[in-house]
Amino acid sequence: MTKATDLSRPQPRAGVMDIEAYVPGKSGAHGAVKVHKLSSNENPLGSSPKVIEAVREVAGKLEFYPDGAATRLREAIGEAHGLNPANIVCSNGSDEILGLLAQTYLSPGDEAIFTEHGFLVYKIYIQAAGAVPVSVKETEERADVDAILAAVSPRTKIVFLANPNNPTGTYLPFEEIRRLHAGLPRHVLLVIDAAYAEYVRRNDYEAGVELVGNSQNVVMTRTFSKIHGLGGMRIGWMYGPAHIVDAINRMRGPFNVNAAAIEAGVAALKDRAHVDRTVAHNDHWLRWLSEELPKLGLRVTPSVGNFILIHFPTDEKHSAEKADAFLSSRGYILRRVAAYGFPNALRMTVGTEEANRGVAAALAEFLKS
Ligand SMILES: *Cc1c(COP(=O)(O)O)cnc(C)c1O
Repeated sequence: MTKATDLSRPQPRAGVMDIEAYVPGKSGAHGAVKVHKLSSNENPLGSSPKVIEAVREVAGKLEFYPDGAATRLREAIGEAHGLNPANIVCSNGSDEILGLLAQTYLSPGDEAIFTEHGFLVYKIYIQAAGAVPVSVKETEERADVDAILAAVSPRTKIVFLANPNNPTGTYLPFEEIRRLHAGLPRHVLLVIDAAYAEYVRRNDYEAGVELVGNSQNVVMTRTFSKIHGLGGMRIGWMYGPAHIVDAINRMRGPFNVNAAAIEAGVAALKDRAHVDRTVAHNDHWLRWLSEELPKLGLRVTPSVGNFILIHFPTDEKHSAEKADAFLSSRGYILRRVAAYGFPNALRMTVGTEEANRGVAAALAEFLKS
């Protein structure tokens, strides 16, 4: 707690020092010969060669400000997804748009809901807006619509839901999302974070487009960081009703998406083949990991994303912490997820064939030790 009376130096406003800063996945390992970074759900195939070319071209004209409206990128997204570009806002990663939504729709004292094992960024942005984070229990590591609806109070302004969720990889079918929306008061904003939508291969899944189109209180957020392999470029976007687009455009920085990001995004959307290769690779290896790891006696949460949550035995010798150290020493960097309510699990990004086989082999060795 900072004392309001401390006038010896500038003081952040109330609540800021209560925020626990986000800790990204590790990126290195000491001493290992070859490092496989499987901690941030990055694309093992990298980004499209067409993107690299487009970014090289921008490098020759960096003195120019970007188009503040990111028009070319919004048009390319609109074309690829069959959406009206006027209903799209682009951002510096989808993280930025999640923060803007919180800043725009939450006042101090308001409440915003997210789920027990939901993406941690929501809580940070809710607190940053001075609002009260309300965490709702999940059922079998999946968001529970009834529990969310039961947590809605007169002060609730936003519900944040990642679908599929990170780090569980579980999802809600469209019927459940529709039921959630139907149960919310119309002044409550439903934010559907569909960061992993492209990976989902289920007939009962819908990313959120339909619900946005038919209502005034739903937005869908998306990212180029996962399927397009562009985490380093920071490109996200939101699809929403005109009144929300209007409000967010007033709140965002005038040039929030940089020139390289705009060109990279446009090029990435043109390379359908790269997206298809990525999905096919993920499909194959997600299934492989989901079958192989349980054979070792490890429980995995059924995932539809590009990562898998691995639960470790309760004996001390084989805890997630020990597994993390063991894997790191062999160059496999997974993600600790204690902060997400899983002290004894690790999240693994679906990697290259070499990485996936390597982790499975290393885990077999670890469990025998
Ligand atoms: C990775 C991720 C994001 C996207 O982050 P960017 O800021 O676009 O890189 C958003 N939501 C969830 C649930 C994620 O896992």
